Amino acid sequence: MLPTELLIDQQLVRGEGPAEPILNPATGEVLCEVPEATPEQLQRAVSAASRAFEGWSQTTPAERSTALLRIAQLVEDNAERFARLESLNCGKPYARALEDEIPAIVDCFRYFAGAARCMTGSVAGEYLAGHTSMIRRDPIGVVASIAPWNYPLMMAAWKTAPALAAGNTVVLKPSEQTPLTALLFARLAAEVLPRGVLNVVCGRGASVGQPLVEHPQVRMVSVTGDVSTGRKILQAASGTLKRTHLELGGKAPVIVFDDADLQAVVDGVRTFGYYNAGQDCTAACRIYAGPKIYEKLVADLSSAVATLKHGTQDEDGVELGPLISDRQRNRVASFVERAQMQGHMEITTGGRLVPGNGFFYEPTVIAGARQEDEIVQREVFGPVVSVTRFGDADQVVAWANDSEYGLASSVWTQDVGQAMRVARRLQYGCTWINTHFMLVNEMPHGGLKSSGYGKDMSMYALEDYTVPRHVMVKL
Ligand code: NAD
Repeated sequence: MLPTELLIDQQLVRGEGPAEPILNPATGEVLCEVPEATPEQLQRAVSAASRAFEGWSQTTPAERSTALLRIAQLVEDNAERFARLESLNCGKPYARALEDEIPAIVDCFRYFAGAARCMTGSVAGEYLAGHTSMIRRDPIGVVASIAPWNYPLMMAAWKTAPALAAGNTVVLKPSEQTPLTALLFARLAAEVLPRGVLNVVCGRGASVGQPLVEHPQVRMVSVTGDVSTGRKILQAASGTLKRTHLELGGKAPVIVFDDADLQAVVDGVRTFGYYNAGQDCTAACRIYAGPKIYEKLVADLSSAVATLKHGTQDEDGVELGPLISDRQRNRVASFVERAQMQGHMEITTGGRLVPGNGFFYEPTVIAGARQEDEIVQREVFGPVVSVTRFGDADQVVAWANDSEYGLASSVWTQDVGQAMRVARRLQYGCTWINTHFMLVNEMPHGGLKSSGYGKDMSMYALEDYTVPRHVMVKL
């Protein structure tokens, strides 16, 4: 039985709004329907979270930590069930969901269980004679957490773990396309958390997301999604001046200098440019190659990418799943078609839809891309990597920074001085050197510019979900 019920005020209830078909993107089949929350159900969820805040915000860090550790354990104990649901609903290879995503999600809850007990800040003292000042970091209230479809449970974890660790209560809205793991998570977390502390409502952005953002009892909105969604949410949040936490798109530059280890670059881009079928905001998708390494890089990368095996969730050796929907696949295909029509770019591998009912697209390399090309400037969110030849370090840094986005970047060279000089000039939330894509719960993930400004993971996330307050005592 697939989980389809919402969690509102500690009760599993069926959504009473219009039903959303939930697909298996690898076959195009409908798995089930999840009816969305009505305005009354949304109201009940926010009211429940609001009532629960009084108690949950007064718990000790140790109590919240214990709850998060139990949640981590429940996710770990149900790892196969979660991985199965995630791979079914997103089309991901099952092994990747089980071996890569679930352990990182478990670790996220364990990290915040520890972090909740280790917050630091300025020292208390007599900054005004006869008065003692101290800093508190307190929770904000009801947090609306809005998640995307590319890593549904991981994004739910990145949002709920720091929010709950800090003492907030949460109304989580998963993507209407991928609610299943969040709904299973809701069932399990309800066994651990007090009534109303976590609520999960499903539905589309316009009908459920937006009213949630506008709700006066919601004090903070955290969203991972598209830049256009971030803009809409900022506008909707402005009416009630809410705190917002935005994690939006990306278009990661991958700067490859002539002295880079070519094999490492090829292996790295083959993996990190196409992981999750390229539906990743940090995907290594915008390669800049030095003048001497360019030709060999294009040739070797194209041969390597051509060997990526696409297939359904359980196929032997499958590396690449489908795109999330037919719409997303058409969007990706139209980017490639427009690039092809330009004339100066060459599709060195891929560039076609894979026939069949699933939403597969061939892993694609586009060589000869120029800085001003759409394929270099816009987020494709699919298995498509462009390669551009650059002249020198100044030019490539300028090109890398000439982007609406500022989430992730990487530099590949054997010259540590060069790597550090370039890294410090890149306007990106993260720069990897001689690797890409690696995340750890102790370090922040988040962007600059249109990629947003919220930080997920790390102590910085805990800061984002709390407010510093000054308490002063007259002695
Ligand atoms: P999306 O913007 O379409 O949807 C994200 C969520 O926002 C969904 O739950 C959706 O229902 C909701 N939503 C949409 N409109 C809304 C509105 N008006 N009010 C409230 N909620 C609304 O994004 P997606 O297509 O699910 O995910 C892909 C995007 O997410 C890509 O652009 C990708 O780069 C980005 N992303 C960013 C990060 C990051 O960490 N920065 C991580 C993963 C994905």
